[in-house]
Amino acid sequence: MTRNMTDPIKQRDGSYAIVIDKAITTPDELKKIAEVMEEFNVNLVKFTESQRMVIIGIDPEKVEEFCKKANVKVAPAIGKGVRSIKFCPGKTLCILGLQDTITMAEKLAKFEGMELPDKMKIAISGCPNSCTEPAVRDIGLMGKKDGFTLYVGGSAGREPRIGRILAENLSIEEAEKLVEKIITFYSKNAKKGQRLWKFIEDISWSEFEVSILG
Ligand code: SF4
Repeated sequence: MTRNMTDPIKQRDGSYAIVIDKAITTPDELKKIAEVMEEFNVNLVKFTESQRMVIIGIDPEKVEEFCKKANVKVAPAIGKGVRSIKFCPGKTLCILGLQDTITMAEKLAKFEGMELPDKMKIAISGCPNSCTEPAVRDIGLMGKKDGFTLYVGGSAGREPRIGRILAENLSIEEAEKLVEKIITFYSKNAKKGQRLWKFIEDISWSEFEVSILG
């Protein structure tokens, strides 16, 4: 059976969970979610390191109704494709922030849930402190004084590795275009199950670089 990236996730105790993005929220949004959780008799929330809320104990048949009432959207959290994008508050809220991570994340949100040869994690940080760890994601954007630095091919999983810098001093629009090119190139050319770092290793960094930067 093929699973969608937003399907409810079975837990060890047999219950199901859904994942929603809540990197930035308000008391009203949280109150609404809590009210609907009570209404649906859902009693547990876990916050992940990816800034997501995992709502545990939901009836899989009622996910759509739950989301409508709570005004939330299920995030792509499993399977092969672009997972929900992790971003820090950047210069909008953080005193150390150098770049606008929130707008950057909004620009890249169109890729979330897109199916790919393997999972793809994207993170954006507003400064080199890297609270979202962009250097160890498939695609990472790190805010610096003159724009974003683009890291590619990082991973924090079973085979941890630091991504390589593909471009620097990028505006939001330039970064968006390059991310789109990477995702399209990877989607068309990688083998199923070949993570971005492995794909780059197999075709060579120089070929990858030329294919993306021209
Ligand atoms: S990465 Fe920088 S801008 Fe983002 S939360 Fe951390 S310190 Fe603030």
